[in-house]
Amino acid sequence: MKRMECDLVVIAAGPAGLAAANAAAEKEARVIVLEKASTTGGASNMGMGPLGIETRIQRESLIGITKEEAFRRFMDYTHWRVDARLVREYLYKSGSTIDWLQGMGVEFAGAFKYFPESEATWHIVKPENGEIGPRAASGMLRVMTRRLEELGAQLLLETPAKKILRENGRIVGVLATDKTGEEIRIDCSAVVVATGGFGDNPEMIKQYTQYEYGKNMFSFRIPGVVGDGMKMAWDVGAAKTDFNMEVAYSSPSQGDYGTVKAVHCQPNLCVNLQGERFVNEEVMSNTTFFSNALTTQKNSFGYSIIDDSIKNYYIKNGVDKFNLVSHIRSCDGYDAEMAAAQKAGDPYVVAADSIEELAAKTGIHAENLKKTVAEYNAACKSRDELFNKDARYLKPLKGPRFYCVTMAPGAYGSLGGIKINYKTEVQDTEWNTIPGLYAAGTDACTIFGDSYVFILPGNTMGFALNSGRMAGEHAVEYLVDLYSQNA
Ligand SMILES: Cc1cc2nc3c(=O)[nH]c(=O)nc-3n(C[C@H](O)[C@H](O)[C@H](O)COP(=O)(O)OP(=O)(O)OC[C@H]3O[C@@H](n4cnc5c(N)ncnc54)[C@H](O)[C@@H]3O)c2cc1C
Repeated sequence: MKRMECDLVVIAAGPAGLAAANAAAEKEARVIVLEKASTTGGASNMGMGPLGIETRIQRESLIGITKEEAFRRFMDYTHWRVDARLVREYLYKSGSTIDWLQGMGVEFAGAFKYFPESEATWHIVKPENGEIGPRAASGMLRVMTRRLEELGAQLLLETPAKKILRENGRIVGVLATDKTGEEIRIDCSAVVVATGGFGDNPEMIKQYTQYEYGKNMFSFRIPGVVGDGMKMAWDVGAAKTDFNMEVAYSSPSQGDYGTVKAVHCQPNLCVNLQGERFVNEEVMSNTTFFSNALTTQKNSFGYSIIDDSIKNYYIKNGVDKFNLVSHIRSCDGYDAEMAAAQKAGDPYVVAADSIEELAAKTGIHAENLKKTVAEYNAACKSRDELFNKDARYLKPLKGPRFYCVTMAPGAYGSLGGIKINYKTEVQDTEWNTIPGLYAAGTDACTIFGDSYVFILPGNTMGFALNSGRMAGEHAVEYLVDLYSQNA
């Protein structure tokens, strides 16, 4: 067994771990970072950017949301069923964290909304190829990794942590396995756990949430994010929290039909398996709310249906409700993608020459669907008595061809696992602090209650970065105290 020694071990190099390690290394702690993957950044490599409140970028763009207002909206939204102190620490720190990242060399394209009713808190990282879209944040993670190395921290890739060591109540080390399979024991006095939850672990999703992967949950799976951190923390006495998924709906179709999927996220007719409307389709732009609505339906499926005239409208005019994730500026590819899906026999992306055929292909109740389409077309001429949908989005379905995409709950990953307090100190089942143990990011994120707070976008990466930074800072305070007691 190899032996190493340092002050602080940070388990994982996603945004939370990188923030923790940088914050501690800046204060001259000797830091070792263990990362299971061959690269740093975790799930955030796929994302676009974190939340920030009262940043310079916002001030210069005349975006006026204050920390107090953000906190009030957050707590109203969660009905105060979450740790208000932790939420406050995070939101109030988030502006300075954007400055901190900029100080390292991270560049942001600006502060953006996700959908019209949200606030412009989403600080999207300036993409290296110029086009704002998925993966923009990967540049930020590279800058943070470089900075960490400049500060002299040791980053061990392909070196998963296996066990946290606790003796006489205190944290004393970590066991890990290196690239060659050799065991390493690292002696240290503090540990930050930040392994990103269990989004890649269908068994834990089934055990701890209301969802079942592949049945009513079609979530992203970031390889290796399988709940290691929380299991290690629970083994040394950490309390469990409530669990959830960071839901955002998607189509279960695995096909590469980006334009078709984006068009079917527009607020057109959407029905359940019984052939009935169940939501004001305007809600589809808030991916959390629509995912919640899907969860209450049979099989958790919804079906977005359009016809030729609607499709041709989008091809001519572009989508009504734009978002920066699908960032569809042209719908020209719709016909080719739809044809490819028909050729492939994709059960979730279907075209038909009549409502009856559409019902037969999808399993939607045929008679009800015909009735719903007739009622919907009538509403398009007057008003939507059922859900009061904005008249701008009431487009009738007349054929001759109809197109349908199945939608189901999806998620960016899991939420919750390790109980922390507002200093990110891990708590045991009696709510006592475990000396020297900290957790950050998704492993410890329970601040959203039952629904992701999408009205303030950038929230999970924001929480990961800020809780990580807090964990690094508090761990150093703990170490200074401990060393002075032992001197
Ligand atoms: C497609 C996509 C887009 C997203 N876009 C955004 C966005 O724009 N804004 C936003 O706020 N959020 C976004 N998110 C969510 C955000 O990326 C996550 O909330 C965030 O990355 C969580 O950070 P983390 O550090 O807690 O965990 P992760 O980023 O999941 O990192 C966990 C790390 O732990 C490592 N690990 C696991 N087990 C071990 C072990 N035993 N030892 C060592 N290392 C281990 C993993 O390899 C991984 O590198 C997005 C997520 C996805 C999937």
